Amino acid sequence: MCRLRCLLPALLTAGTVAAVLMVAGGCGAAENAAAPASDDPAGAAAAQPGKTADEPSEGPAKTPAEGEAGAKKPPEAEKPWSPPTFTARPAERDRMVREIERYGLADKAVLEAMRSVPRHEFVPAAQSRDAYDDEPLPIGYGQTISQPYMVAEMTRQLDLEAGDKVLEVGTGSGYQAAVLTHFTRHVYTMEIVGPLAEAARKRLDRLGYDVVAVRHGDGYHGWPAKGAFDAIIVTCATGQIPPPLLKQLKPGGRMVIPVGGPFSIQRLMLVRKDEAGDVTSRSLMAVRFVPLLRRDPTRD
Ligand code: SAH
Repeated sequence: MCRLRCLLPALLTAGTVAAVLMVAGGCGAAENAAAPASDDPAGAAAAQPGKTADEPSEGPAKTPAEGEAGAKKPPEAEKPWSPPTFTARPAERDRMVREIERYGLADKAVLEAMRSVPRHEFVPAAQSRDAYDDEPLPIGYGQTISQPYMVAEMTRQLDLEAGDKVLEVGTGSGYQAAVLTHFTRHVYTMEIVGPLAEAARKRLDRLGYDVVAVRHGDGYHGWPAKGAFDAIIVTCATGQIPPPLLKQLKPGGRMVIPVGGPFSIQRLMLVRKDEAGDVTSRSLMAVRFVPLLRRDPTRD
């Protein structure tokens, strides 16, 4: 994997603060890599790691009217669930988190989630030594596991709350999905490369992230049967925001998505749908992601 990096000034749009683009240069396959945009001095995400509405709750007290005949049956309580914990390679995990913090990302819940998920379990054995470097790494089929800083920043931008339903397009190794489970157990992820989808499903189950639903398919169409979603994260770049994904975003929902061609500078966009259904977007930073594919390259 190429380690040559160059620094380019990023073009910024209104609403963002200084950011620097670090592009993995001369590596052939596109990789998702970026450097920090420290636009969150306050560490805004409200979610709490491991503490989610996944735990059964009593729900709000019934009003007398609701208690009367014909009232809706309360939804079945979900079994309690919390993300698995791991002890291997703690010093390296700390080092990785310190590096993310150096970029200005201060959100404690996000940092804790990044510390908790064992990235070395999500990379091929040949990459294990480098698993906690702040780099994208190859995972086969021309795809990459994202750079840890990018995973952290995209997670933060989703501003997840316990109980939110989140869709990821681009499962890859399953690492990003595992990080998301620290905020909500309602994680749906789609992968177009069949063998990657299958491997991620098995890996997530084996490691205990068994609440994640993995589907093999073209995420361009989203997952209508499971939507609408409070948050959508796309981890591959598209020329434009897929209309089906916009449709499947709930009012009040957030989407982070890299927009741009495979050989041009892409922008990481934060898209919001307000309660009235109006959509606004802003550019967060320049990034480089693998392209969103429209067919499984392992199928005829
Ligand atoms: N989030 C991943 C890294 C993603 S790399 C992780 O944590 O490891 C981008 C992934 O998007 C690749 O695995 C690629 O195969 C997948 N992909 C590309 N086009 C897609 C599409 N249309 N639908 C679903 N997945 C897609």
